[in-house]
Amino acid sequence: MGVYTIVTSGVPCIQKLVKKFEREEMNDISVYRKELSEFSRRAFYRGLVGGTGGNLSVRVRDTNTVLVTPSGISLGDVVPEENILVNLEGEILESSKGLRPSKETGFHLAAYQLRPDVGAIAHVHPPYATAYSNKMAPLPLATVSARVNLKHVPCIECFLPGSSELRESVIEGIKKNPDSPCILMKEHGILAMGRDLKHAYYIADLTEDTAKIAYIEATIPPKP
Ligand SMILES: [Zn+2]
Repeated sequence: MGVYTIVTSGVPCIQKLVKKFEREEMNDISVYRKELSEFSRRAFYRGLVGGTGGNLSVRVRDTNTVLVTPSGISLGDVVPEENILVNLEGEILESSKGLRPSKETGFHLAAYQLRPDVGAIAHVHPPYATAYSNKMAPLPLATVSARVNLKHVPCIECFLPGSSELRESVIEGIKKNPDSPCILMKEHGILAMGRDLKHAYYIADLTEDTAKIAYIEATIPPKP
């Protein structure tokens, strides 16, 4: 009876401690740094991006800051301390080795400002989805899973990478499609937005898989 009393009265205490630990962990920037590198590598080795292209970012919870991958380093190689902390105005707050944030930081920050529900972004160049972007039409949602999880994947016009025109085009695309978790960028790639890094990665992954299925489907002749 005595032991039972100790255990039951101890549970809320343990829950409180776990919650405190989780809160502290979520505010620990090193956790975000590690996670950002982990999903960057996953995107590279999954073939969602090649060379030094693409960039990922994550919003640091309860702050006006964002951690973004650096310019000029492959997503397959980026290590946690190379990720760069910026504020929503784009000012660099923490950077090691003199690295600069990705040249596409501008449209990442615009997306965070327009969509408070977005906690992370994966901008990658996956081959099938990018090929579909060249049609300048929404991605054909070939599966039930795509229709449920992607809802609608519109396409925006092509502008030079890193340009203010591309940033403006992304802003317009998000404003016109406030519920879309992903946007095709003509002749360039995709912008996948999620609650957190894992979610943004899954959206990018599903978008590429959906484009591949749509492509294969298009090669199958109709019933005679
Ligand atoms: Zn790009």
